[in-house]
Amino acid sequence: MKKTAIITGITGQDGAYLAKFLLKKNYRVIGLTRGYSNYNNKNLSYLEISELIEIEECDLLDFSSLFKLMLKYQPDEFYNLAAQSSVSLSFEQPIGTINYNTHSVLSILECIRILGYSTKFYQASSSEMYGKVKNLPVNEDMPLHPLSPYAISKASAYWILTNYRESYGIYGVNGVLFNHESYLRSPNFFIKKVLKTSLDIIHKKTDKLIVGNIDIKRDFGYAKDYVKAMYLSLQQNNPDDYLICSGQSLFLRDIIYYVFEKLNISKSKLFEDSKLFRPTEIEDIYGDNTKAKKQLGWEYNKTFYDVLDILIDEEIKNYII
Ligand code: NDP
Repeated sequence: MKKTAIITGITGQDGAYLAKFLLKKNYRVIGLTRGYSNYNNKNLSYLEISELIEIEECDLLDFSSLFKLMLKYQPDEFYNLAAQSSVSLSFEQPIGTINYNTHSVLSILECIRILGYSTKFYQASSSEMYGKVKNLPVNEDMPLHPLSPYAISKASAYWILTNYRESYGIYGVNGVLFNHESYLRSPNFFIKKVLKTSLDIIHKKTDKLIVGNIDIKRDFGYAKDYVKAMYLSLQQNNPDDYLICSGQSLFLRDIIYYVFEKLNISKSKLFEDSKLFRPTEIEDIYGDNTKAKKQLGWEYNKTFYDVLDILIDEEIKNYII
C-alpha cells in the first residue's frame, strides 16, 4: 500500500525537495498551497515533479478547510513546512508572522487530535529559537531565547507540538533546522542573493552587492540533504526532537569573499548598509548534529564550501542572460 504524505509549503524550497524525495520512495504526495490562483510551481517544475503531485488549496488558518482535507486524505505523514519564513520580514510583519506560524500548527494538531488519527507530524522548527545562546554548539536540551518575531513564532509552535505530544500521545517531531540552502532558495535570502547578484555583476546588470550585517556567523547546510532528516524523523518508533545542522558556522563576510574570489569579482563591489541591520541579531550559532546522526542514521559530511561550489555551478548553469 502506498503511503500518503501531506506537505504544506510545497511551493517553497524544502517542500519541493521533500516532495521529490518522497515520490522516489513511492509515496502519494499531496501538496498544500495558500492560493491556487497565484500558485507558483516554479520549484516543482524545476525538479520535474509538478505533474506527480496533487495540489490542494488550503489556508491553514481556516480550520474547516484543513479538517476536510484531513478527512479526504487521512495522511500517514504530515510535513508542516509552510510559514512566513523570513526573519527580516518578521520585524516588518510581527503580527502576521506570529499569527500564521503558530495558529497553523495548532490547527493541524487539533485536526489530528479530534479525528484520532495516527498521522505522524513533522514541524519545521528553527535554530532561530535558541537566539541568545550561552554555549555553543547548541544541543536539543538547551533553553530557547528567541530574538525576533519569527523566532518567537517558531518557539511557540515548538511548545504547542511538545504539549500535544505529551498530553495526547500524538506522534509529533520538532525537526530543528539550521540555515540550509539550494538553487531553489527564494531570492530574498542571503546566500541566494549573494549568488544571484554576483552573476548580475559579471553580466553587468548591476555593479554592487548591498548587504546588512555580515560580521555574524551561521551554520549553513544543503537543503537536499536536510529533507532526508525530516523523513527519517518520522520513521522512528517514538517521536523525538532533532537538530538538523552541519555543526560548523561561517562568517557571512567569508562566504561573500569565497564567492567573489571564485567568480573573479572585486571586493570593491561589496557595500554594507547599516539600514539593512536587524534590530536584534544572533552573533554566532551552530549546532550539534550527533543525535540526528546516531538515532536517525542521517548522514551529513559536507562543509559549506562544498555546498557553495554546487550552488555556484547550478546558478551559472541556469542563469538567464
Ligand atoms: P520557503 O519560504 O521557501 O517556503 C515556505 C512556503 O510556505 C512558501 O512557499 C509558501 O507557499 C508557504 N507560506 C505559507 N504561509 C506563508 C506566509 N505567511 N508567508 C510566506 N509563505 C507562506 O521556506 P523553506 O522551504 O526554506 O523552509 C521550510 C520551512 O522550514 C519553513 O517553515 C521555515 O520557516 C523552516 N526553516 C527553514 C530554514 C531554511 O534555512 N530554509 C531554517 C529553519 C527553519 P504558498 O505560497 O504556496 O502557500
